Amino acid sequence: MTAQTAPNAHFPRLFEPLRIGGITLDNRVVMGSMHTGLEDRLWDTPKLAAYYAERARGGVGLIITGGFAPSRTGQLLPFAGKMTNRADVLRHREFTKAVHAEGGKIALQIIHAGRYGYTPFKVAAGSEPSPIHPFKHLKMTEQIIWHVIRSFGTAAQLAHRAGYDAIELMGGEGYLINQFLCPHTNDRTDKWGGSTENRQRFLVEIIKDVRRKVPREFPVILRQSVADFVKNGQTFDEIALLAKRAEEHGVDAINTDIGWHEAQVPTIVTSVPRGAFVKFTERLRDVVDIPLIASNRINTPDFAEEILERGKVDAVSMARPLLADPEFVDKARTGRADEINTCIGCNQACLDHAFVGQKVSCLLNPRAGRETVLTLGATRTAKRVAVVGAGPAGLSAAVSAAQRGHRVDLYEAGPAIGGQFSIAARIPGKEEFNETIRYFTRQLEINHVAVHLDTRVGAQELIDGGYDQVIVATGVVPRVPAIDGIDHPMVMSYADAVLGHREVGKRVAVIGAGGIGFDVTEFLTTDESPTLNLKEWEQEWGVTDDLDTPGFLTEPRPMPAVREVYMVQRKPGKQGKSLGKTTGWVHRAAVKMKGVEQISGATYDRIDDAGLHITLHDKEGNEVGKRLLEVDNVVVCAGQESVRDLVDPLTAAGVITHVIGGADLASELDAKRAIRQGTEVAAGLP
Ligand code: FAD
Ligand code: NAP
Ligand code: SF4
Repeated sequence: MTAQTAPNAHFPRLFEPLRIGGITLDNRVVMGSMHTGLEDRLWDTPKLAAYYAERARGGVGLIITGGFAPSRTGQLLPFAGKMTNRADVLRHREFTKAVHAEGGKIALQIIHAGRYGYTPFKVAAGSEPSPIHPFKHLKMTEQIIWHVIRSFGTAAQLAHRAGYDAIELMGGEGYLINQFLCPHTNDRTDKWGGSTENRQRFLVEIIKDVRRKVPREFPVILRQSVADFVKNGQTFDEIALLAKRAEEHGVDAINTDIGWHEAQVPTIVTSVPRGAFVKFTERLRDVVDIPLIASNRINTPDFAEEILERGKVDAVSMARPLLADPEFVDKARTGRADEINTCIGCNQACLDHAFVGQKVSCLLNPRAGRETVLTLGATRTAKRVAVVGAGPAGLSAAVSAAQRGHRVDLYEAGPAIGGQFSIAARIPGKEEFNETIRYFTRQLEINHVAVHLDTRVGAQELIDGGYDQVIVATGVVPRVPAIDGIDHPMVMSYADAVLGHREVGKRVAVIGAGGIGFDVTEFLTTDESPTLNLKEWEQEWGVTDDLDTPGFLTEPRPMPAVREVYMVQRKPGKQGKSLGKTTGWVHRAAVKMKGVEQISGATYDRIDDAGLHITLHDKEGNEVGKRLLEVDNVVVCAGQESVRDLVDPLTAAGVITHVIGGADLASELDAKRAIRQGTEVAAGLP
């Protein structure tokens, strides 16, 4: 056996080569398609090329691009990325060249948005409008259908000319092909609607046209929805039949896809159990012989290896994990899995950005999508740097500065690193946040940061320490609102409640309904063992295994709440408006399922032995009544205040001082800003 073919010592299955059509991937990690926002404008071409190149350099088996439309009617937005002519081919060559120069492989994803287009020019299979997008669409005529079919073939042909190693046809997530496949959106009565065969005709004709226009060895991958999670979605028989027909007509691999964008089942947020949907892919093993690729909530090499070991899927698709750490694959290959910056499924800088038209990045890796502008090159003038506070801001500053070659002392008042993020990690469904603590622990170690725990450092010590620069990342403390009775023994901060410093009774009022108010409410209503097993999670969200149930949806059966909780805020109107675009609905649904009473437009009169006394107001601010919430405890989640006591004395003493994270600004603070500021301040050091 040659060295090249010897199994990898750490993850033998993951690093087995995989043949897809005429190409062989070095390993079984496929970077799933992600729209970064860099696809759409010509001037972003070098940035997108650099982003792909960094991931190819990190060793991923195959990169699948964000979706590019085969025609103007299929664009995700007006002027969005497309592959329709020779000018597009020239642009796309920049991507393929950049990836090939790093020894990687790249496939173009061809997507027609259908009714999911954010454009007034959109067309779709049926009459049902999109519930999540504005603009009416035009129901496709026979002529338009054939035009779109041929445009897929042409886009594939152009992709081949542009040097792509493969193409992927987006047939899931509720985009046009998926819209044809499901009665949910296909109400046609002609040969493109009605029977299963008719609904599948559109995709089959696309595959035939693509195959006519590209060489047989050029791989065609189908992104196939294996669980629509919408009413009148496909049954398993339909999915299996489609997979079989796709294989017969020349598809070389099936990359499986879960859930439409409008589905009311979470499919990728952090609270979804890891690998929750792999079984939907595995079911196709007995149906087709071509490679099957599993996806969704697979974020570590160990877990990927475990899936592959089961022997039913051939590769794993990871999209966000490669945003979080472009070196994911190389680290796994060389036995450094503990150095991986593991995606925590928060969506805060990736999908949340995409859905509001902002460029995609990563909460954990602010360089993602900014590879050409945020660089962390080695310093030529190593400095002595003190970082105060080991929350996300201080951790990212310390690690990034040390990676650049500075000598870093990190001071933390508490007994462990993590700051407020460690409290977050205790929330049910946020267990992934522990991976970030593990990542930083390891990075501090390998980058030789001197960590001083249990050390509340003062300004004079820092001044006496003779540091060249000091980074103040002292974060925040919970706000104590001025409410009569706030010092009553029944009142506690969110930190005390979540960290278990205080016992919490059976009836609780939560003051504040921001991100932390929602998290704490979920914590208080869920039982002690926070992680739901997959069966319980499926029951909560109404997912069924029954193969005959269209869309695999059933009646949700939530676990009962373990406490009676009131969530109160002063603002009138719906609670949770500030939560993430793609995750907020999950939190709102979760507290609703637990029967939490949400009270808005309240003012806090007092807290006494009887409970929390509030006055209620309507939307115009007029008083409409008074209420006593008879509770055992009040948990305060009323925002935070910055800890900045070091800043003035350090500045007065002439020390070069940087202030980042919560210490800089407590309002609208999250770990995304904290980590970004930490990385940027380190990048800006000499
Ligand atoms: P902090 O995390 O407050 O860290 C500051 C650190 O400095 C502390 O460890 C403190 O002990 C130390 N320190 C202070 N003074 C000194 C001193 N003089 N000497 C030495 N050490 C000192 N954010 C998100 O983005 N997404 C989420 O989903 C999310 N969920 C959350 C859920 C909960 C329940 C909570 C509580 C927070 C959540 N957050 C979330 C918020 C996120 O944790 C904070 O925004 C982030 O931790 C702020 O980082 P920081 O480094 O600025 O400050
Ligand atoms: P927040 O979202 O700003 O919410 C603070 C809450 O406290 C609001 O409901 C506010 O509502 C209330 N409040 C503010 N001042 C008050 C006062 N003086 N008295 C009584 N109530 C008061 O902040 P947070 O919940 O503390 O979260 C902190 C940050 O962590 C957030 O910015 C968030 O981005 C981040 N986080 C994110 C997530 C996530 O899932 N993405 C989860 C948790 C935390 P009223 O003013 O209406 O009363
Ligand atoms: Fe993962 Fe959050 Fe980064 Fe998105 S922003 S890639 S979900 S860690």
